[in-house]
Amino acid sequence: MKSIAAILFLTCVSLLSAQNSASEKGSALPASAQQAMNGIDAGKIRATAKYLSDDSLEGRGTGQKGGDKAADWIAAQFKSYGVLPAGDNGTYFQSVDFYGVTTDPKETQLAFVPKSGEPITLKFADDFVATDQTHSEKSEIDAPIVYVGYGIHAPEYNWDDYKGVDLKGKVLLMLVNEPPSDDPNFFKARALTYYGRWTYKYEEAARRGAAGVILVHKTDMASYPWEVVRNSWGGETSLLKDDKDPKLKSAGWIQLEVARKLAKAAGHDLDQMLKDANSRSFKPVDLGVRVKETIVSKVRPFSSRNVVGKVVGSDSRLKKQAVMYTAHYDHLGIHPDEPGDHIYNGATDNATGCGILLELARAVSGTKEKPKRTIVFAAVTAEEQGLLGSQYLGQHPPVPAHNISLDLNFDDIQPFGEPQQLVVSGAERTTVFPLVQSVAQSFGMAIQPDDHPEAGHYYRSDHFSMARVGVPAFSMNEGPLFKGHDLAWGEEKERDYVSHRYHQPSDEYRPDMDFTADAKIAKVGLAIGWEVANQPELAGWQPGDEFEKARKATHQAKASL
Ligand SMILES: [Zn+2]
Repeated sequence: MKSIAAILFLTCVSLLSAQNSASEKGSALPASAQQAMNGIDAGKIRATAKYLSDDSLEGRGTGQKGGDKAADWIAAQFKSYGVLPAGDNGTYFQSVDFYGVTTDPKETQLAFVPKSGEPITLKFADDFVATDQTHSEKSEIDAPIVYVGYGIHAPEYNWDDYKGVDLKGKVLLMLVNEPPSDDPNFFKARALTYYGRWTYKYEEAARRGAAGVILVHKTDMASYPWEVVRNSWGGETSLLKDDKDPKLKSAGWIQLEVARKLAKAAGHDLDQMLKDANSRSFKPVDLGVRVKETIVSKVRPFSSRNVVGKVVGSDSRLKKQAVMYTAHYDHLGIHPDEPGDHIYNGATDNATGCGILLELARAVSGTKEKPKRTIVFAAVTAEEQGLLGSQYLGQHPPVPAHNISLDLNFDDIQPFGEPQQLVVSGAERTTVFPLVQSVAQSFGMAIQPDDHPEAGHYYRSDHFSMARVGVPAFSMNEGPLFKGHDLAWGEEKERDYVSHRYHQPSDEYRPDMDFTADAKIAKVGLAIGWEVANQPELAGWQPGDEFEKARKATHQAKASL
C-alpha cells in the first residue's frame, strides 16, 4: 500500500563508497548463499512485474478474477522452482474468508441523548461515519458514553487512560494520536507508536468489551481532513471472517464540531477535555449522555488466498524454525464504472515486490546447500484492504510464530536503477540491526532513517501483521539516491510516482523501468535472511520495544505446551 520510499523526501545523506561486489559480503555468508545471490536476475523480476501488471490480470483485486489468476500463477512459479507447498492441506494456498461490509447511509442512525435537553441527531457522512465490525446486518446500541481520553493502556510508558474502569457494553469517546512528547522514552517523542493509530484504539476498546468507539476527528491530530475519513468509510470495508480478536458493533468517527456539541450537552468544555487527556492522572469520564444507534449494513461474503511455499532448512534441529519473506500480490483491481482506463495494474505496487519474492524463492530453492532454518515465502492477499491477508497469515502461520526468527517484507520497490540507500525502518528495533548495517555497508548502501516517524509508516505494510504476533519484522526499500544521479533526481522521480501513478490506473509496466533496484534489494534481503537463518539464536526485539510483549507471549505459550 504505502511505499516508505515514495513518501520520504530525504535530505540528510551520508554516503559510503558505492561498491556492490559479492566478495565484499560479511564473512558469515556461505558459498552457496553467495552463489544464490549471484544468480538473482533483474530480468526475471522484470518478467514477473510485467506479467502481474498486465491488463489481463485486471489489477489483481482481492476477491476478483484477476487476483485469483495472480495467486494461481505465483503458486505455479513456486512449484517450478521446487519450492514446497506450505498452505492448507498440502497445497500452496491459504484460503482466507472475508466479509465486505458497507454501512447503509440512510438506514443507519445515531443520536446523543442527554439527561436533559434535546437529543442531538447526527447525519451519516456529514457528522459521523461508522462500521459494524461484527458484520451483522443490523446492530442496535443503547448505552452510556464514557470519555477515555486517548484510550491508551501502555504499561511501558506508565500510561493508563482506563484506570481499571469497567467499560463493558459502553460506547467510548476518544481522541486519535497519543500524548504529545519530545522525550524519546515517552511515546517515542514525535514518532507515532502503534498506540496512536486509530486501529489500536478500536482494538483496545473491543478487548475491554466496549460496544462502540467514537473517535473525535481533529484535523491536526489525525493529520488528514474529515473528507478523507468520510470517503474511506463511505464504501465497502473488508473484514476477516475468522478474526480471533474481539470486535465492536460500531467503530466510528465524529466531526470535531459534533464533539463540541456533545461535550456542551454533557455540561463539559471540549477544549478542557482535550487538555485533560494529556495528564497521566486522567480518569474515564461518564458524560451522562446515552448513545442510541442503529447500524444497518450490506454484508457480502467472499474469499481469496495467500500463496505460501517453503524451502526446508538443512539443520535437523533448526529446520523447524524459519525466516519468512513476504510481499502482497493484490492491488486495487478493476473498477468497471469508472470512465477510461479503469484497471489498477499495480506494477510498482506491488508486482515489483512479488518479483523480488519469486526471485528469492528461485535462488534459495536452487542451491545445493540450504540455510539451516526453513525459509518461508508468502505472497499475501488483501493488503490494500487493510493488511488483512498478512493478518490472517500472522494468526495462521505455516510455522508457529515463536519459531519464526524474522520477516522481511517487500512493497513498492521503485525500478529506477541502482539505489545507494537502504530504507529499513523498524530494523533498528530488532536484534538483527547490526547485521543489517554490516550487510548494507558491504553493498555500499547507506541506511536512511525514517524522516517522517510521526506518520507511522511502520504500521502500514504487511510486516506489521507479523510484528503484532511478536515476529521481528520490517520492510526493505530503496532510498531516493541512485547511481549516476543526484539526490534531487531520485526525489523528483518519487514525487512524480506519488502524484501521477500511486494507487492510480497509471501504475503500469513500462519498458524503461530499470529493475537493477529490485535485484539489489533482493540480494540484500537474501544475505540478511540467510545469515539470520543460520544464527544460533532466534532474532528478537530490543528490550522495551512495544512488540517485545507479543514475542514473550508466544514463547511462553510454547513453553506451557
Ligand atoms: Zn503495496
